[in-house]
Amino acid sequence: MVNFVGAGPGAKDLITIRAYKLISQAGIIIYAGSLINPKLLEYADSKCKFYNSATMTLEEVINVMAGADKKGIDVVRLHTGDPCIYGAIKEQMEMLDKLKIPYACCPGVSSFCGAAASLNLEYTLPGISQSVIITRMGGRTSVPAKESIESFASHNATMVLFLSAGMIGELSRRLISGGYNKNTPAAIVYKATWEDEEKYICTIETLEETAYRHNITKTALIIAGNVLEPGIYKRSELYNPDFTTSYRQSAPPEV
Ligand code: SAH
Repeated sequence: MVNFVGAGPGAKDLITIRAYKLISQAGIIIYAGSLINPKLLEYADSKCKFYNSATMTLEEVINVMAGADKKGIDVVRLHTGDPCIYGAIKEQMEMLDKLKIPYACCPGVSSFCGAAASLNLEYTLPGISQSVIITRMGGRTSVPAKESIESFASHNATMVLFLSAGMIGELSRRLISGGYNKNTPAAIVYKATWEDEEKYICTIETLEETAYRHNITKTALIIAGNVLEPGIYKRSELYNPDFTTSYRQSAPPEV
């Protein structure tokens, strides 16, 4: 059995109980060494064998899984954050399907949630934005033309940009040309929830200079949107005393 396991954003205790159990019971762990906190491997059994996928091809990863399957060894494939976001899991799953090797997926705390927690941020504030756009700049992996930064920026919704810290100047220019005001607040969160986390609030226009000043080129999320602006949102209707929900009757009008 192969388990694709979300390792969370970095902090050793930010994984699920299920992930902890799977890690501690695995005979083999294949982990994404470029982003996974090595402290998580301390949860593994002393006899567990480790493979760092940063130095492996897809075929090599699958070979390890297939060899383990033949011997009845449980494999954990550890992916940073949640495996469903830029995890490259589909290609592994399809190869496992061909080999008739069973697998399952265990979710994790994505780094975009870890970054929001670090900033005490709510991405979906009434009156500001009710959507979160998760995207990236095109790099070696291209982004479909209809998903351009400019087209998403035109919504002025909350945006969280993965895999783009190395292209932050271009990103900032494209966010502005797409329709964000240049003074819209933005944030850079480097290694969210790790011990050496760094976080900076700036504006979309000053993203590049902020990243340059702090020497941030990778392992960072960029957040853009007015949800970072304090005090301009509307309070929720859910907890409004004048509002009836299926769980709570509104307060009677005062006389
Ligand atoms: N599946 C992961 C994302 C993998 S893509 C998740 O759910 O978080 C790798 C990118 O994720 C990095 O380039 C960076 O943009 C972001 N990332 C991953 N961990 C991070 C962290 N702790 N802090 C900030 N960004 C992080």
